[in-house]
Parts: sequence; structure tokens; C-alpha cells
Amino acid sequence: MKKIALHWQILAALILSVLFGYFFTEQVEYVTWMGDLFLRALQMIIAPLIFASIVSGVLGLGSAQNLGRMSAKTFGYYLATSLIAAVIGLTVVNIFKPGVGADLGLTADAVEMEAGASTFGDTLMNIIPTNIFQALAETDMLSIIFFAILFGFFATKIASRYKEPLEKGFNGIFEVMMRITMFIIRFAPLGIFGIVSGIVAEQAHDLVNIFSRMGVYMLAVILALLFHSFVILPLLLKYLGRVNPRLHIKAMSVPLLTAFTTSSSSATLPLAMEAVEQKSGVSKKVTSFVLPLGATVNMNGTALYECVSVLFIAQAYGIDLSLIQQVIVVMTALLASIGAAGIPMAGLVVITIILSVLGLPLEGVGLILAVERILDMFRTAVNVWSDTCGAVIIAKSEGEELKV
Ligand code: ASP
Repeated sequence: MKKIALHWQILAALILSVLFGYFFTEQVEYVTWMGDLFLRALQMIIAPLIFASIVSGVLGLGSAQNLGRMSAKTFGYYLATSLIAAVIGLTVVNIFKPGVGADLGLTADAVEMEAGASTFGDTLMNIIPTNIFQALAETDMLSIIFFAILFGFFATKIASRYKEPLEKGFNGIFEVMMRITMFIIRFAPLGIFGIVSGIVAEQAHDLVNIFSRMGVYMLAVILALLFHSFVILPLLLKYLGRVNPRLHIKAMSVPLLTAFTTSSSSATLPLAMEAVEQKSGVSKKVTSFVLPLGATVNMNGTALYECVSVLFIAQAYGIDLSLIQQVIVVMTALLASIGAAGIPMAGLVVITIILSVLGLPLEGVGLILAVERILDMFRTAVNVWSDTCGAVIIAKSEGEELKV
């Protein structure tokens, strides 16, 4: 019998889980453990995977010029696409004005959230770990990436009798981690079934109620995200990368569905790396440099969401933001999206920073809490989609032959 492709299995799991979560709310507790196991397995491999992949990637780049060129392209791509996304968010929220007349009775106390948010300055400072083992233990992505780049770079400078075994060793660890990833991917349909039925059981029954109050805001966020994903990024793929956007999105179906259901770019990272390398044909060198960085730094969906949400809150409180203030929203949203971790609800937490920069009421976050989980799914998929587009475009600019 022909094996059903994994993305169809995942899609079937998604549909079944929505039905199961909705109709069997009580029984859901018997399946949520599958979701927890799947997430734990993904989290288990992130730290060793990014460490080994970046070290072997940077070793593969070979020289300071190559590393410099690659970093410039990568950061150029991240900044440009995040900025475009934020501006799209701003435009859409100004057209739809979802906050005008919104029900302020919904607000909840959100002041304690501030504690979870770190400022952009802190984020920069924390890039340098005081203890790399602690950073690994806590899966502190930016610190691990920083140390791994440094390690890989200086490993190219040592005598070849040391360098060669080191390179082989890290390549070997990377290959093993990829094998483990491929093994875990096989359980994605079950994991996703567990995760989604849990979410549906929790939220579905007030969905109609939530939607009637928050519909326009949700629609504004989702439309803007769709426009960015299906118009802007494909145009970049086509004209900048000279690749077929349809083939690439098809190749990314498993990581995109996983990003959507887990709401975590970090947890999706192993699957994104596997798909970009195996399905789109990007070299390990580019994949292992662009994707781990992208999972924490490049968050187009989050930048867009921040813009729409901050303006939505301002509108709801009847506060008119001047053009200059709106430019500040775009810039802080950009920085906040860089600072946000690739975990569920990180974007909501950093909104408090933007609100306080602008002097807007922090309780405004309470307005958007009800639909946060759903919007997180959409924006995380966009975050991951943009990372993979960046990997493909950069690989092409490095003269690689791809499969898409
Ligand atoms: N959940 C998002 C991610 O992992 C971050 C966010 O909350 O916006 O990419």
C-alpha cells in the first residue's frame, strides 16, 4: 500500500483533533499527553542541534569574508522583511480600525506581565553568556548561537590536525541530530492531534462569543499576515531568489503546519531545518546559519501582530496616535520582534514594552488576551515561513542549485 504523505497525515490529524476537542471536551485529557511528549522531544534536540549545526556551518564557511557576507545578507533579509511586515500591519489596522468602539469591559489585569518582558538592551547584553553550559541547559538561543559562531570561527584558525577531527565530530553530531529529528517527525500527526484537541476543548465553546466581539481585529491580523505570506514573500522568492514559491511552500508543509499548531518557532526549528535541507535542497552551510538565527531574530508575523495590536488598543481607548508615534510603533515592534523568544505567547508579553514606550495603558493587553492563542498560531507560521524563504533566497544568492 502506498504510504500517505506526512503533510496529509498532519492535516487529517488537525481536522480530527478539532472535531474531537469540540465534541469530547471531557475525554481530551486522555490524548493531550501525546502533544506534551511531542513538544518535549522537539525541545530536547534544539540545544545540541543548533550548537552542532552552527559550528559545522561556520566551519564550512571557512573564512571571515564568507562569514561576514553571509551575516550581512541574513540580517539584511531579516530587517527588510520584518519592516515590510510591520508596515503592512500598520496599514491594515488604519484601514479596518478594529479598535474603534471595542468593548473595554473585556480588560483583564496585565500589569504583572511586564516582569516577563526583557528590553531590547537586555536582549543585546544577554547575547554573551556568562556560562555556556547554563545557556545550553536553558536553551538560551541567542547565547548559544553567539558562542557557536565564535567557536566555529576560531576553530577554522587552529592547526589542521586539530581542526579536522573537530570538523568531522561536529558534522557527525549534526547528522545524528538530523536523524533524531526525522524520527521525531514521524510522530508529528499524533503530537499535533494531542496539542490541537487540547486547545479546541479549552477555547471552542466561547469561540462564537469571542468572534462576535473580536472578529474585526482577528480578521485584520489574519488578512495582513496572509498578504505578507502569500504576496510579499512569494514575490521576493520569485524575483529575488528566482525560485518557484509554490514548490517551496509545498516543501515546507510539515514545518508550517507544526509551527501553526505548536505556536513555537523554536520547537519547529528542527523540522524546518530538515525540510529546507532535504526538500528545498539548501546546503547545510546556509541552513545551519540562517534558520537557527531566524527562529529567534526573524519574526515577521510577530512584528506585524505587534503593530496591529498596539494600534487596536490605542483605538479602543480612543487615543489618536500621530504619524510620528506610529513610526515609533513600527520601530519598537521591529525591535520587540527581534527580542521576542520563539515560544508561545512571547509576542503578547513584549507588547507591554511597546505600550509603556508610548505611554499607553498596559491593561490594554487584557483586550486581546481572549484571541491570543489563535493569533499566535497564525503569526508563528508566518515567522517560520519567512525564515525558510530567507534560507532559500540566500542559498540562491550564494549560487546554490536548489530543488525548488
Ligand atoms: N509564538 C511566536 C513564535 O514562536 C512568537 C510570538 O509569540 O509572537 O514564533
